[in-house]
Formats: sequence, C-alpha cells, structure tokens
Amino acid sequence: MGTDAAELRDLYQEVILDHGRHPRNRRAMEGASVSAHGDNPMCGDRVTVFLRLDEEQTVADISFDGRGCAISMASASLMTELLKGKTRDEAEALSHDLRALCTGAEPPHDAPADAMERLAVLSGVKDFPSRVKCATLAWHTMDAALAGQTDTVTTE
Ligand code: ZN
Repeated sequence: MGTDAAELRDLYQEVILDHGRHPRNRRAMEGASVSAHGDNPMCGDRVTVFLRLDEEQTVADISFDGRGCAISMASASLMTELLKGKTRDEAEALSHDLRALCTGAEPPHDAPADAMERLAVLSGVKDFPSRVKCATLAWHTMDAALAGQTDTVTTE
C-alpha cells in the first residue's frame, strides 16, 4: 500500500470523525411526511429518519435523530446532506449504490458521481463486516420511511 492510499484513508477518517462529532441535520422534524426508526443492536446504533416530501415527491427536508458510533452518525449526516432536493427515485438509487459501496459489490444504479464521491469515505467499512451495518443503518431506515414502513428496522 503506497502513501497515497494511506493519505486517502486518513482523509476519509477525518471526514467521518468530523460528521460523527458534528452531525448535520440532527434534529427531530415537526410535520414530517414520513419517518422510520432503525436499530443496529450489534453496535447499539439507533436512528430515526424524518423526510418531508413536496408534491413532486422531492425531498424538501430531511433530518435524523439518534445516537450511535461515529460511522453510523457520519453516514446519517452525509445522507441528509446528499438527499435534500433529490427525488424519491434518486434517493432510492443512492441508497442502493451506498449499500453496494459498503459491501464491496458493484453499484447497481447510476447514482450521480459527485454524490458517490462524497460517500466514498464510508467505503472502508467493506473490510470490516461488523461495521457495514453501522454505515447502512440510516439508509435502510430512510428506505423504510419512504416505503411507509412503521416497524423498527433492525439490522441483524
Ligand atoms: Zn455502529
């Protein structure tokens, strides 16, 4: 492994720690169109994701509330930044690609490259199977919210 890879890893680590310490859009939302709870008992991460959709099914606002490890909070924080202004279909495509990124699979959809670039900071979890659920919890929960699922999403 060369210096570049190590530098990139440090940069990723820095972004995760920054979002983990100072999560963006961490607040309960009044008047959300949909919301869902997610629980990752393996690590103790818990999130609630809130979305407000406008008439065109575009994400007008998105926030999350909860507690968990730096990776779970960073992933939720990045998600809220990336999904605001996206359509429901774009949100679902990004979610599929993020999950592929975290498991080392080939991304199934054509999510915007700039969004996937920002999510690349989470790609390191693919080498740590127990942390994959930390990185994907908020996204599973967001999918459940969009699908109108009211039961708590539990990763196993
Ligand atoms: Zn975690």
